[in-house]
Amino acid sequence: MSTSGMEPQQRPKPSLRPWVEWRAGRIDDPVGRLRYLQSAAARSEPTGGRGLKFESSNRTSRLGIRLLSTLLVFTAASFFAVRAMVRVEPLPNYARRAQSPASRVEKLPYVWQVEAVKDSETYSNGLRIDNRYTVANHRRSYRVFPADGLQQTDPFSRSKPAGIVFHTTESEQAPFESGHNRVLRQVGESLLEYVQRHRCYNFLIDRFGRVFRVVNESDAAEHAGYSVWSDEQWVYVNLNESFLGVSFEARTEPGQEEASVSPAQVRAAAMLIEMLRCRFAISTANCVTHAQVSVNPSNMRIGYHTDWASSFPFEALGLPNNYAQPIPALLAFGFEADREYRRVGGLRLSAGVDLAEERLRERAAERGLSTRAYRRQLQQLYHERFHQPVADE
Ligand SMILES: [Zn+2]
Repeated sequence: MSTSGMEPQQRPKPSLRPWVEWRAGRIDDPVGRLRYLQSAAARSEPTGGRGLKFESSNRTSRLGIRLLSTLLVFTAASFFAVRAMVRVEPLPNYARRAQSPASRVEKLPYVWQVEAVKDSETYSNGLRIDNRYTVANHRRSYRVFPADGLQQTDPFSRSKPAGIVFHTTESEQAPFESGHNRVLRQVGESLLEYVQRHRCYNFLIDRFGRVFRVVNESDAAEHAGYSVWSDEQWVYVNLNESFLGVSFEARTEPGQEEASVSPAQVRAAAMLIEMLRCRFAISTANCVTHAQVSVNPSNMRIGYHTDWASSFPFEALGLPNNYAQPIPALLAFGFEADREYRRVGGLRLSAGVDLAEERLRERAAERGLSTRAYRRQLQQLYHERFHQPVADE
């Protein structure tokens, strides 16, 4: 039905209170508007009066609208005046980043502890942790730096692990055959004693896939030394405090493409990663290898340690290929990758180096600097603000 014929303004207007007209103007449906006006007119009829009183002029209603407009303008002006008086501080960057966009939200595994007896724990995903070698170390405590503003610092000290660094022990390896059970066990036990004495890692996975907790998760282990990593939000420096150390009893060769670990170690590591990610809400982007994070501040090269430089089985462990991430030490602080690092790392790790170099060049160009000058600035920033002595592992 056409509604044009129902428009009330085409009809003689009853003399109504201004607020009635204003309110009628806010009713979109013309039929509803007309009904409202009619009922309002009926209500406005003087007691004992006869019929509606129409006015030839709408002067009164115009006056009302003018008064109403003045009131609205005054209200809006007051609102802005009050807002201008109250100083609204912008949210600091770190707080804004804390409101993670949905794209960054990652589904975490759900794993719970089923049983804890004297020396071991069992979890719902099949993980079993042996606690016979568990020791304490100093409590974990660290600060982080916003990835897009290294001059600021998160004002809160943190104690929850933000990620995992994977290692290999590079220790003696007996042949992995049933005839060598005794020597395999002996080698594993002496390795555990060494690792325990030096508080080397939080967890060690032996060649049979047994998971040993060495340093409690609440404490820092001496596993990462001088190191740098970054996710989308934060830069982490010297990761003993901020990342858990998980090591495989294994040896690696430079540039190797196949992981030299047993299938049992891979299965156990996958379960351990699930449990740790669930317990500490660790993102997959923060599950990285020692070769990706290790730095040498004395010559500003990356890769002082190169364990898991080329063959970490990310995919088999339910993780994305993090070798493809740009190397944060290079991008945030201008560390450099030498030829040896690329040789040991092979193609997968070199991809992360190339990506970081490319971004570094772009950032230098944005600032109107040569790559060399920009790198020098970043290195200076590292030495002035971030280079803290750490006990080497
Ligand atoms: Zn290592």
